[in-house]
Amino acid sequence: MSKSIAIVGAGTAGLHLGLYLQQHGVESTIFSDKRPEEYRDVRLLNTVAHHAVTVERENALGVNHWQDAGYFGHYYYIGVPGKPIEFYGDLASGPSRAVDYRIYLPTLMNDYIDRGGKIEYRNIGLEDLDELSAAYDLVVIGTGKGGLGTLFARDEDSSPYSEPQRHLCVGLFKGIAPQETRAVTYCIAPGNGEMIEIPTVSFNGDATALVLENHFGGDLEVLAKTRYDDDPRAFLDLLIDKLRTYYPITADRINEDEFDLANSSLDLLQGAVTPGVRHGHVKLDNGKIAALLGDAHATVDPVLGQGGNMASYAAHVLGEEIVGNNVFDEHFFEVVNARRAVRVLGATRWTNYMLKNLRELPNSLVEFLGAVSLDRGLADKFTTNFNYPETQWDIFSSPESMSSWVESNAGSQQEDDDVRPFAGTAV
Ligand SMILES: Cc1cc2nc3c(=O)[nH]c(=O)nc-3n(C[C@H](O)[C@H](O)[C@H](O)COP(=O)(O)OP(=O)(O)OC[C@H]3O[C@@H](n4cnc5c(N)ncnc54)[C@H](O)[C@@H]3O)c2cc1C
Repeated sequence: MSKSIAIVGAGTAGLHLGLYLQQHGVESTIFSDKRPEEYRDVRLLNTVAHHAVTVERENALGVNHWQDAGYFGHYYYIGVPGKPIEFYGDLASGPSRAVDYRIYLPTLMNDYIDRGGKIEYRNIGLEDLDELSAAYDLVVIGTGKGGLGTLFARDEDSSPYSEPQRHLCVGLFKGIAPQETRAVTYCIAPGNGEMIEIPTVSFNGDATALVLENHFGGDLEVLAKTRYDDDPRAFLDLLIDKLRTYYPITADRINEDEFDLANSSLDLLQGAVTPGVRHGHVKLDNGKIAALLGDAHATVDPVLGQGGNMASYAAHVLGEEIVGNNVFDEHFFEVVNARRAVRVLGATRWTNYMLKNLRELPNSLVEFLGAVSLDRGLADKFTTNFNYPETQWDIFSSPESMSSWVESNAGSQQEDDDVRPFAGTAV
């Protein structure tokens, strides 16, 4: 039976689904409010790192255009006053990779179009969904964290927060020398925030993303409120000053003569994300069912870099189920929701745990990080598990399981510290 699917939104969720369906002979139309050529001139959208599990899905879709841009691990810096904790862990499942989404999304849109896919450029409103659901076998809403998706009810059981938990200042910079190993640098400034430094491919080649996750009311929050455009030099001086105080592991590699936004003043994004989960499928006014996918379904704060990876994973699961079924009824969605829940809800719960506990730093987390910092095998496993948020949630779901994981995995350092090539399955 031939099927035809309407996908609203050309983000990672919509594109990975559209490309998967295309590869498996199922017709789809993507509806996008942006054309590929418009991305060049928009403000930085985010700073997304894809982990090896997602890169492997991109390989399978034939859309990994950035084979050599991977990074290999995480440096960690926990700024405990007087006695900072520093350690490194490998991403043993294979390199992660970050490409500016202003390049990534239009590239994948063009891949989809070049392979015969249809994209209609229009802003879809609630009132259009009935029309789409009459014309297509299934409507998928992958419109991201704002707009259309927010019109649907939240799953309150999985949504502990109704307000943002961090005040973000996120930029793409030049003038920061790379670490010895191409890697993310993950910093924690107790009481003030976290910062994730990510080697990122952007318009002028290699750049450095700084994701400053500032605590509301803390000493770093000013970074989310100070405008670069008002006085670029003053903004950069303020940022350097805060980096020196809270994140010296990054500040020490800055060349102050070169340090600036990497491409233009559009490389800075300031704001906040409200985390929340919505029901995975919704009934439209005409009685038909539509699916929510990606951020429209589950939005997380970027503190652990999970949202885009979750969107890709869920798109793959939904794609498999669409290919294997002809009836998109309640039972179909029960199966889809159950299959994606383990990873998507695992990621949201682990992220929500970290948002709270990186701020409060309870003894159980300090002891966990202390133990991981002293054992390279634990550090590699903890780092690799950024690929598998459901495993992280198994570990972090209680202080008892954290200490049990440390006990049962301690002393398991691999003899060969080299990065292992990716060997697992895609999902
Ligand atoms: C600062 C920051 C850093 C991040 N870092 C990471 C990271 O390191 N790793 C990670 O995995 N995730 C990260 N994320 C999260 C990641 O950006 C999102 O989870 C991911 O982009 C979600 O993809 P999506 O397709 O669901 O939504 P989006 O990427 O938001 O795509 C939705 C698309 O739909 C279009 N659209 C919206 N409304 C309509 C409409 N009404 N009609 C038609 N089209 C519409 C939009 O133009 C957009 O193209 C980060 C987010 C932020 C903000």
